[in-house]
Amino acid sequence: MLHSSYIEISKSALQNNINFLKKEIGPNVRFSSVIKGNAYGHGIEQFAPIAQESGVDHFSVFSADEASRLLESLPKAATIVIMGYIDNPELEWAIQNDIEFFVFELDRLTEAAKVAMKLGKRAKIHLELETGMNRTGFDKGALEQAEATLQQCIAHVELQGICTHYAGAESLQNHDRVLSQYRLFNKMLLQLRKNSITPTQIHTACSAAMVSYPETRMDMVRIGIMQYGLWPSPETYSQYIGQHGDKTDPLKRLINWKSRVMSLKSVTQGNFIGYGTSYQAPRDMVLAVVPVGYSWGYSRSLSNQGQVLIRGQRAAVVGIVNMNVMMVDVTNIKDVQKHDEVVLLGKQKDQSITVASFGELSTQLNYELLTRLPTNIPRYIVD
Ligand SMILES: *Cc1c(COP(=O)(O)O)cnc(C)c1O
Repeated sequence: MLHSSYIEISKSALQNNINFLKKEIGPNVRFSSVIKGNAYGHGIEQFAPIAQESGVDHFSVFSADEASRLLESLPKAATIVIMGYIDNPELEWAIQNDIEFFVFELDRLTEAAKVAMKLGKRAKIHLELETGMNRTGFDKGALEQAEATLQQCIAHVELQGICTHYAGAESLQNHDRVLSQYRLFNKMLLQLRKNSITPTQIHTACSAAMVSYPETRMDMVRIGIMQYGLWPSPETYSQYIGQHGDKTDPLKRLINWKSRVMSLKSVTQGNFIGYGTSYQAPRDMVLAVVPVGYSWGYSRSLSNQGQVLIRGQRAAVVGIVNMNVMMVDVTNIKDVQKHDEVVLLGKQKDQSITVASFGELSTQLNYELLTRLPTNIPRYIVD
């Protein structure tokens, strides 16, 4: 069955990004591939095997259901860490399968120990510390109790890691807050070490922290957005360029989202195009109808704003983006034919539609746009 649009994922681009990131962190820092949010929209099932082929052996997910999908789709063994949601009923499954998880509440710690004892295994946990993000983690006040509980159940619990997460390392605006988090983390770590609590790995850095605060790399970095070829923010990119001098972007984007011309139509000057009156033809025009609309994640806010690529040239979206189709202006593109490839996101010839140009400019846009790509668009691996 021919789908109205499809996503190509480039394996060589991923290999390029992994090689770059591993070189950047050096041989003594572990690389964990963050694949929450359906691998940032790339598809866990499609992304995980090529990540493994590219040399990734450690993955971080948000929830137990993502961990389960990942486990199913990995050809070889790998370390899997759940950073967020796992509830008590899933603990048994996780411990049985050697899935590691963040612990940020006493309840999780005692329950994990109980289940592990029952299974005759040790639960592999990462103790998450609250350092100022104010999301999850043991704060300074709760640490003593956590230590005591940990020591009581150490026979059933293996302290794989101690970690925290920064509240916005991609923006200079948060500079002081990130640094104070870093300092508090080290202080709390010292206290734990004094009491002979010694984890295997200390880890705090996401992509932006890895670039802008190299001291946060410690034993392992948890990298999401950059492995997909995008920068956490323009600021992080300028910072990298500033550090390195070389002005070429070392990252390559993996995603090309494509469709085809479904139909062509000529419209004479003065006619309105599509629903309502938001676009009136200023001249005689040729339109290409593209079978993608907001039900496929092509936002309605791109009405009269978005651009696509056809025959290596830009074509503007005219009128309102419909549920399943949109119209684009191909008046000035030669020889456009039905079935021609349409690129919604990514490259065609020497042109490209970037994620950032795709909608409103906001720092979180990269993340949000990617993770909103519907899961029912087929994803194919290409070289
Ligand atoms: C999402 C996330 C990361 C990765 O963030 P990127 O900016 O995509 O690199 C790392 N750690 C935690 C706890 C996260 O939630």
